[in-house]
Amino acid sequence: MLITGCSAVMPDASVTEDAAIAVKDGKIVYIGRASEPGAKVGATETLNARGKLAMPGMYDCHTHSVQQLLKGGAVDEPPIVWRRILVPYEASAGDEDRYHAALLYCLQMIRAGVTMFSDAGTVNMEPCVRAVEQTGIQALITQPCWDSDLSLPEAVRDKNAGEALRKAERLYKSFDGYAQGRIRVCFSFSSPDTASPELIRLLGEAAGEYGVRLHTHLCQHIDEVKTCVLKYRMRPAELLESCGVLNDRLLAAHCIHVTDRDIHMMAERGVNIVHCPSSNLTTQGLPKYPAECAAGARVSLGNDGAAVARQDMFYQAQLLKFITHACFATLVYDTVGLSIKEAYEMITINGARALGVRDRLGTLETGKQADIVLVDLRTPALSPSRNILNTVIMAGSANDVSDVLIKGKIILKNREFTGLDEEKILSEGKLRLRKLMEKI
Ligand SMILES: [Zn+2]
Repeated sequence: MLITGCSAVMPDASVTEDAAIAVKDGKIVYIGRASEPGAKVGATETLNARGKLAMPGMYDCHTHSVQQLLKGGAVDEPPIVWRRILVPYEASAGDEDRYHAALLYCLQMIRAGVTMFSDAGTVNMEPCVRAVEQTGIQALITQPCWDSDLSLPEAVRDKNAGEALRKAERLYKSFDGYAQGRIRVCFSFSSPDTASPELIRLLGEAAGEYGVRLHTHLCQHIDEVKTCVLKYRMRPAELLESCGVLNDRLLAAHCIHVTDRDIHMMAERGVNIVHCPSSNLTTQGLPKYPAECAAGARVSLGNDGAAVARQDMFYQAQLLKFITHACFATLVYDTVGLSIKEAYEMITINGARALGVRDRLGTLETGKQADIVLVDLRTPALSPSRNILNTVIMAGSANDVSDVLIKGKIILKNREFTGLDEEKILSEGKLRLRKLMEKI
């Protein structure tokens, strides 16, 4: 297949105009100027992308697909939302609720140009597996473990570390590589204050043994820091260091209540920091990007659950850029703060690196998997422009995504799903929500 007539974002974040991208067996076999000899591949199928920008699929590195049936349900609530609202909701939801929630999430993400997401998990992940299999998206899923917080409902809590590990291994053995390799499974403890050091250590060892990520929430709330300091006389990052899991396998969501020392330690160990700006800014605090950048930390972005805010990776990048400028950069006349290139990389290649798929995803380049998003530039918001990438990153939104290819397969074409009944999924989701609200 040949995608023609578009502009394309190259691996160095420059934009090539009048580009062509050739795709064969799910991989990119040519990307460059349409006039070059390499573009003449004798394609059997052509996708006319005139007026569009081709960019790599985006990565939502931290979310909870199950919360899709909680939209609007946790706004303007006092902390801690997850303990009072999210956990009881997850404990009461059934498998069909989880399935429809995940289906709605996948649908929304494909429309938004997200080609892979990392789900922090819920009580049972099999419904999410079904939704991923059905929709064609890719996912890094996990079974969250928590064994040390007795105030949590029994439905979500593990009896002990051994049982939690067995549960997590079961998910790994059942579904890693499932759905033609679109589903990967990693290990997870919910947070440093809800898992015992023994459990954290065991999960870290398992992640090392299987060569996969270890997902957690880290320094999300001040209460988490307090618990660790009072209970262990260590800050959360120090606790994880003492458990041997502060390394480049760790996918650490939020990282808000951190000291400069925490940041340096995480950067040194190659921890994958995932900020979720819309979630962070409403209930938790401020991501400290300039300090992370100076320390050389790996930073990517996530939407987090749908209960609070908009789910749009362009929006997350814009929020982080604005808040970094407002709270740090302008105070010292730093006119860059968080550059467009950094913002762009946070939602593409940095995301792929955080999820452990950088070698085959994250940029549009020959030999990589053809996960391609087309952004329609023919709108008053994006056109005309003196610099396409600047405009798309600063003014683009999920609504501007018109086409999505995953593993070379067209999932969304000119804003229409090729194999999914969107209307049916939306109406079934609505019905499901009504039933769930009657139950709770
Ligand atoms: Zn989360």
